Amino acid sequence: MSLKRIDHIGIAVPSLAEAIPFYRDVLGMEYHGEEVVADQKVKTAFFEIGEVHIELLEPTSPESPIAKFIEKNGGRGGIHHIAYATDDVAAKLEEYTAKGVALIDKAPRPGANNKLIAFLHPKSTGSVLTELCQPK
Ligand code: ZN
Repeated sequence: MSLKRIDHIGIAVPSLAEAIPFYRDVLGMEYHGEEVVADQKVKTAFFEIGEVHIELLEPTSPESPIAKFIEKNGGRGGIHHIAYATDDVAAKLEEYTAKGVALIDKAPRPGANNKLIAFLHPKSTGSVLTELCQPK
């Protein structure tokens, strides 16, 4: 069972209110609304571009991993992660663990956009934060 496609690209932003008009009005992407993911201490906004989504991530707390990312990036946003779609995140985690990949999430957890998600550890992915996701 292979990965199916790129599901979305996660982009950290200091402010959704400032970033949304650029993606919606300047680039002209279809806006799919905002959602708070309490678990990850982020507020997300989704845009559709073909089969792929752009996921903007604004931290809702200084403890958020996105807040730390922005801080390390000199207070600016930037590309944060790439997410691949699969039918079975749990099976993929098992497969990748067997191949020696380090995981951030040992088991799938709820993410934005009604998905189950899990992150692989950047130390195993050439520093690219990699997410797997499947529709719930
Ligand atoms: Zn994501």
